[in-house]
Amino acid sequence: MTAKLLAERSLGCHDRTDATEFESRRRTVSAGLAARKLDALLVAFSPNLRYLTGFTGSNGCLLAMPEAAILFTDPRYRMQAAQETTARVKTCKGTLVADVLAAIGRLGLKRVGYEPARMTCDFFEALKARLPMRASLVPAPGWIEELRMVKSPEEVARIRRSVETNSRAFEQTVARVRPGMKEQDLAAELEYRMRRLGAEKPSFETIVASGARSALPHAQPTAARLRVGDLVVVDMGAFQEGYASDMTRMLFLGRPGARVKRTYRAVLEAQLAAIASVRAGVPAAQVDRAARRVLKGYGLERAFVHSTGHGLGLEIHEPPRIGMREKPVLREGMAITIEPGVYLEGFGGIRIEDTVVVTAGGCEILTPTGKELRVI
Ligand code: ZN
Ligand code: ZN
Repeated sequence: MTAKLLAERSLGCHDRTDATEFESRRRTVSAGLAARKLDALLVAFSPNLRYLTGFTGSNGCLLAMPEAAILFTDPRYRMQAAQETTARVKTCKGTLVADVLAAIGRLGLKRVGYEPARMTCDFFEALKARLPMRASLVPAPGWIEELRMVKSPEEVARIRRSVETNSRAFEQTVARVRPGMKEQDLAAELEYRMRRLGAEKPSFETIVASGARSALPHAQPTAARLRVGDLVVVDMGAFQEGYASDMTRMLFLGRPGARVKRTYRAVLEAQLAAIASVRAGVPAAQVDRAARRVLKGYGLERAFVHSTGHGLGLEIHEPPRIGMREKPVLREGMAITIEPGVYLEGFGGIRIEDTVVVTAGGCEILTPTGKELRVI
């Protein structure tokens, strides 16, 4: 069996994306170097590295050049790298930086692009300190993130599976929610269930906040117990096959009063209006505006303190941002969240969040979970 065939067969244990998809992404980068006046691009940020190679190890970097690409890693990942990627792998005995520098010198690379927001200062300083004469480091910000914004069918399929796992974990857990349960225990149960259903881990720290604490948009679960009369916000997501999901749903213990019902209706209408405005060719800000306009009609626009959504994929938050001042135009294949919310001190907060994929004529809502207020 050839090494390549062996690698392809064993890809199953980590990343089943067809090797050709990673190769085509690397070719896109190789082909884009000249336009950026670069001889190479150095990628050390793990989601970008995974996107370009399939490699999931914690220590590695890729030197992408017009005709080839080298993945540098350390001996702990020698076997894993051989299984996960068809890129050429260099196992470094010393630091990765030393071998990257040696390659830059040996190959006579002059202008080496790097990702300024994605590289540690340590790595950058070590690189800069011993860069061969006549070579220079050129910032190339956001390039790979730009490519990552539009998902391939395989990526959409993974996000869909992650979303489905997340929603199943939610349903299984909600069926067990009772007054007296601690926020922390509810969060732990959600995370346990998503793992049992196939997720690798939560895509962020699960948010469970009850009562007045639900007015904190990013509350951490506490030992507080759920009480009758509480609004409970549950914001959860999974990483499955490397891809994120993200959903927020609201529970209410007991019988909701008029203010809860009215506020819930306002947020739901805002969320539906934002979803209805999603379509390829629409600026992100327009989607944000659609949600804000509805909340304004309810006098709640000042209680909506964050943006309407964000892209997700190999990271839980990635471009594009769906916010007030966001100029980027939505494109077919983008995976984004739509999550307006209102936060009222002393009363509580209400947020409703789905994961959707942009299509030519609108969007597909991946989240299968019903959007009614769950009364327990
Ligand atoms: Zn969320
Ligand atoms: Zn979100």
